[in-house]
Amino acid sequence: MKIARFRGFEEGFVIEEKPRPAPSDDEVLIRVKCVAVSGTDVYRFRKYDNPTVMPFKDGDTPGHEAVGIVEEVGRKVKSLKEGERVVVQPFWGCGKCDNCKKGRENFCPSIQAFGFHIPGVFSEYIVAREDIALNFNDEIDFEEALPTHHMAVNLYGLKSSGIDLQSVNTAAVFGTGNLGLLMVMQLKALGIPKIFAVDIDESRLAIAKKLAGSVTINASISKPDEEIRRQTDGIGTDIAIELAGGNAPTLDPALDSLRKGGTYIALAVRGMEDGLNFRKILSKSLRVQGSSTHTIKEMKDCLQMIEQRSVDTKEIITHRFKFDEINDAFNCRADDPTSLYVVVDI
Ligand SMILES: [Zn+2]
Ligand SMILES: [Zn+2]
Repeated sequence: MKIARFRGFEEGFVIEEKPRPAPSDDEVLIRVKCVAVSGTDVYRFRKYDNPTVMPFKDGDTPGHEAVGIVEEVGRKVKSLKEGERVVVQPFWGCGKCDNCKKGRENFCPSIQAFGFHIPGVFSEYIVAREDIALNFNDEIDFEEALPTHHMAVNLYGLKSSGIDLQSVNTAAVFGTGNLGLLMVMQLKALGIPKIFAVDIDESRLAIAKKLAGSVTINASISKPDEEIRRQTDGIGTDIAIELAGGNAPTLDPALDSLRKGGTYIALAVRGMEDGLNFRKILSKSLRVQGSSTHTIKEMKDCLQMIEQRSVDTKEIITHRFKFDEINDAFNCRADDPTSLYVVVDI
């Protein structure tokens, strides 16, 4: 089978041959159909100086978001059959520790992930444990199911905060990249009436408006917190979600746009020196929730949303490449400001 391996920062990825893996008793063999180029992998590919991710090393296979067809099932597999379409959760727990037993496999001390602990999914075949491969119906295109993992990241953040989503009337999303655009669609699908989308990229704001009817605010033109308060009768929003990441100057505007007793949800990876103003948090009685990854429960809920077409993930797939164009795909994700989901057909 074909597999992509990193062969240095000059050469990039090379497609090489490797024997096809065999599933063990509780695993399925998956013929991978398409894979997304993740932001983390782009950092590793470009050797960016980011202390949270290590650059690729010689021989590494990238990728953790995969969709494919079950080709073979292990002896003890009951829930999946050959020929079924599946999306794979990028990581899995040991299944035995206290966290795993309580459904918090994302906190498992022995967590394993594609593309980090074992080779990634830029490969014609992968094996995955039965419980992390989720079947979806044939009416959904393979690429449509790819964003399930990112949607699950978003949903887990919302749920972790403990807020009653039914009672949320207003939300502000800071940052309209892939996760931000998925977030505005998810908030709309959850029935939240007024969604503000904040960014400095006019074309992404236009997409946020088109996909979720978001009230868009270009932070390079107006002050988001002032604009949000103005449009909420001076009160502010129930929730503010940080999805800009890096060193974008969004932290104070997000706190300032919240109503008293509002909830701030931190989802994007920020610079190491970033800090929140705890005086504001105290004086406005704000709740702050940090969140990363998710569990299989959110994967299932989000896949169901895709199947019901309450979100249209296809709308944010901007580029498609063939497997042997993998380096072009990574360069596109890194350099093309119009790129959102960059999909590689395997
Ligand atoms: Zn565990
Ligand atoms: Zn990811």
